[in-house]
Amino acid sequence: MKPLHAIIVGAGIGGLTAAVALRRDGHSVTVLDQTRELRPAGAGISLWSNGVKVLNALGLGDAIAAVGGRMDWVSYLDRDGKQLCHFSLDPLVERVAQRPYPVRRTDLQNLLLDAVGVEHVLLGQRCVKVDDDGDGVIVATESGDRFGADLVIAADGANSRLRSYVVGHGTEREYLGYQNWNGLVRRSLGGPDEWTVFLGEAKRVSTMPVRDGFYFFFDVPLDDPDIDATRPAPDVLAEHFDGWAPAVQDLIANIDPATTTNVAIHTHTPLGRFSRGRVAIMGDAAHTTAPDLGQGGCQAMEDALVLARSLRDTRAGVVEALERYSAERVPRTEQIIVRAADRARVTHGHDPLETEAWYRELATEDGSRIIEGICRSIESGPLA
Ligand SMILES: Cc1cc2nc3c(=O)[nH]c(=O)nc-3n(C[C@H](O)[C@H](O)[C@H](O)COP(=O)(O)OP(=O)(O)OC[C@H]3O[C@@H](n4cnc5c(N)ncnc54)[C@H](O)[C@@H]3O)c2cc1C
Repeated sequence: MKPLHAIIVGAGIGGLTAAVALRRDGHSVTVLDQTRELRPAGAGISLWSNGVKVLNALGLGDAIAAVGGRMDWVSYLDRDGKQLCHFSLDPLVERVAQRPYPVRRTDLQNLLLDAVGVEHVLLGQRCVKVDDDGDGVIVATESGDRFGADLVIAADGANSRLRSYVVGHGTEREYLGYQNWNGLVRRSLGGPDEWTVFLGEAKRVSTMPVRDGFYFFFDVPLDDPDIDATRPAPDVLAEHFDGWAPAVQDLIANIDPATTTNVAIHTHTPLGRFSRGRVAIMGDAAHTTAPDLGQGGCQAMEDALVLARSLRDTRAGVVEALERYSAERVPRTEQIIVRAADRARVTHGHDPLETEAWYRELATEDGSRIIEGICRSIESGPLA
């Protein structure tokens, strides 16, 4: 297809990856974001092998390997610190031919921004409307600016403003019944090259190695999705994890309340379409996914790759290319949304008996069932 001009709304993981992919194919892009200063939401992210493979395909493999944490082992322990299972991730890496990388979100954002070129990213532009006249599309911003393009990619996140234009209705978010606290620390709960997880009472505490430290998160089932902004995170977590193992107490004592993020976890019913005319949605705007498979960001990256590939391979025009993108991505991401929500419900005690059964299963785990589950997410992607 001849070089196109694309407006990408949102400079998160999805929007920036799409910008890199389209620019590599010779298209011009303008990325618009409402924020005045780009700061990633959250501290770290686990990029599983399917996400890393997208970066490889975009020429960013060395860059992500340079900032990725080395995660060779996995350990699950109970709340008292008794080991449930411990296994190597080597079989996963051998099977899918790519190691995963837990990374600092700022490292990932900087890497993507460098690849896009900051001159292509305009900040302080809150997009409120799209108008598609069949020959082109216009994005209007709150401040009254109008940007014309051949296509618009709405990568404006879980609370997407542009999503309803594409899907034709509002999207109700479903609270999955737990809150998450995450940040960065110097010390891990376990080994230096290990993803360590403590489990009990349908709660979860975890650390993963990233560049120069560890990404941590705490999950706590709470009926109320409202974030408690009145008390520092260590005080709240000390209450929720009272009596847990010394390593957990040590982690709580070492977290920085100023840089700890607290988020209520949501998902939504899978959407039936990701494109309408010359406008497409991607990333969390298209599929807000519980973090329980570590796949939301990876799926946003896959979206970007498939969207660029569809524009490259379709001779019939932009609309047709976006329809093909939609047809490929809707079933793939639906499967991930549903599996991640199911996983969230088991991990976070929607049925306490099921959660207890999972703990017992982990005590008999040699790693193969968990690796099989991770491979299922990776191997059904576009770069399997
Ligand atoms: C606790 C937690 C842990 C997670 N862990 C993982 C993990 O380990 N692995 C993984 O792959 N995924 C993980 N995810 C999911 C992942 O974070 C998201 O899927 C990913 O960040 C989505 O990227 P995005 O670009 O679609 O949206 P976002 O990152 O939300 O970016 C959207 C951007 O759009 C901008 N924007 C919004 N509205 C407008 C507007 N009207 N006009 C202009 N700009 C606008 C915003 O300012 C923002 O910059 C996790 C999520 C959570 C909550």
